[in-house]
Amino acid sequence: MVDYLANTEINSQRIAAVESCFGASGQPLALPGRVLLGEGVLTKECRKKAKPRIFFLFNDILVYGSIVLSKRKYRSQHIIPLEEVTLEPLPETLQAKNRWMIKTAKKSFVVSAASTTERQEWISHIEECVRRQLLATGRQPSTEHAAPWIPDKATDICMRCTQTRFSALTRRHHCRKCGFVVCAECSRQRFLLPRLSPKPLRVCTLCYRELAAQKRQEEEEEPGVGSPGQPAYLAGAVCGASSGDDEDSDEDREGSGDGDWPSRVEFYSSGVSWSAFHS
Ligand SMILES: [Zn+2]
Ligand SMILES: [Zn+2]
Repeated sequence: MVDYLANTEINSQRIAAVESCFGASGQPLALPGRVLLGEGVLTKECRKKAKPRIFFLFNDILVYGSIVLSKRKYRSQHIIPLEEVTLEPLPETLQAKNRWMIKTAKKSFVVSAASTTERQEWISHIEECVRRQLLATGRQPSTEHAAPWIPDKATDICMRCTQTRFSALTRRHHCRKCGFVVCAECSRQRFLLPRLSPKPLRVCTLCYRELAAQKRQEEEEEPGVGSPGQPAYLAGAVCGASSGDDEDSDEDREGSGDGDWPSRVEFYSSGVSWSAFHS
């Protein structure tokens, strides 16, 4: 039981080991009542290609990072509060097996496990933690999720105009709203997406039209919000050059969660080689 693991020496040692692997590049992870439930390597589908990432499941947060030296040194730490997480299992394809999507309002991405068993273990452990975390905080499961970025390799042509062919000179861009791979011409506009960033972000032509229409409707229903003549959304409609905003979002920093949740999750140990859940 996690109850039993909370505030034990072995749990503190495990968490200290994770902290030391991330070193100065990571945040402190030890908190009263926080339990490290499991860890393992999952393949994360990034913009350019799928990469192995180390994942740590705590009772209140999911932490992942890139692997410099297995079990010794990790970096690029990301912390996702579990109460914001929803999972979506993905169907099997010939090329991709044991996948599922981890979705949050800020960011959504696809991971895969080494086997069906591991996938099932990860999903059931994460879902159980999320359920208990929501119960403890009284929050509702989140319903809005960031669209996952479609990997660059998935398409050679712009997914909006279907005319532009990408090459070394013709760059791919990602719409922050729908996650589609689009050309520069089809993603000239920026729109303020407060859930994702305080700055207006690149959106495709279709999403821009939809967002602008939505915004207009909101402003009509609520007159007085936004000055007449210059609707608020237009402030975000800047046709600027790309400012390196298309970098893999994997390098983004994410906030840490508060972990004062009383932990009661059942755990079990699995015999699989890549991922292990603590006993
Ligand atoms: Zn295009
Ligand atoms: Zn879009």
